[in-house]
Amino acid sequence: MHVFTTAAELRAYAEARRSAGRRLGLVPTMGALHNGHLQLVQAAAAQCDEVITSVFVNPTQFNNPDDLRLYPRVPEQDAAMLAPAGCTALFLPSVAEVYPQPSVLRFDFGPLEQVMEGAHRPGHFNGVATVVSKLFHLARPHVAYFGQKDFQQVAVVRQLVADLSFDLELVVYPTVREADGLAMSSRNGRLSPAARAVAPLIYQVLTEAAAQVRQGVPPAQMQALALAALAEEPQITPEYFELIDAHTLQPVQQYSSGQPLALCVAAHLGGVRLIDNVLV
Ligand code: AMP
Repeated sequence: MHVFTTAAELRAYAEARRSAGRRLGLVPTMGALHNGHLQLVQAAAAQCDEVITSVFVNPTQFNNPDDLRLYPRVPEQDAAMLAPAGCTALFLPSVAEVYPQPSVLRFDFGPLEQVMEGAHRPGHFNGVATVVSKLFHLARPHVAYFGQKDFQQVAVVRQLVADLSFDLELVVYPTVREADGLAMSSRNGRLSPAARAVAPLIYQVLTEAAAQVRQGVPPAQMQALALAALAEEPQITPEYFELIDAHTLQPVQQYSSGQPLALCVAAHLGGVRLIDNVLV
């Protein structure tokens, strides 16, 4: 596996492999890799000739300085996990390499980012769109892999690809979970044992709410029940729990037939912010 720390090295590698007719897959990550990330890499390896994985804790997508400071960074461990999963090139740049100068360009995704993560983390999707655009330009992938775990991010990246005519295919991979249902996340390692013990409640409440939606329980009632179920656990502070249209991401107040629906949640557990979602 190649390890590149400069944009020039990655660009040269990607250009050479592309012109040799190789199919390139890109898996952007922030590292502290877990099995969810590795399954994305494995999916890429099954479909592409070269798999480029980026490990970069992107400062511009953090609105909370403590979250950025405490975000786990274990590059050696990440590198050791990537090669066996089928990664052929690891891009491990410094902040100065990705941002030789502060970006002044600002992305505005309109209604897509006025809800959920966009509403609660101002500037988050501007940072995501900036770094993803840079990675797309440097790695020139034929296919880019993203996890459904970050549901709104997928919608924003889809819009980015369409609006800026990036010539690539997006593959969205289902959320990989621990045996008890907790969505795998690099932030799970920051949970105290007590917080880790109650964390599976988030997914339990999501699946119960999804069942209620299928039974036709009115959205407002379903949402109130879900928030109450989360609040019963004193260690959990829910931030939002939304039933949304899976395409527009706008909250759904009443059901209409055939509308694709998703449930999305964000909650704090002992200083760690977790998100999860399910398709209904
Ligand atoms: P992150 O390192 O958290 O920025 O995630 C990098 C990529 O892995 C994103 O596309 C995430 O959506 C995806 N990802 C993170 N956690 C999971 C998971 N539990 N299952 C599937 N994909 C995931």
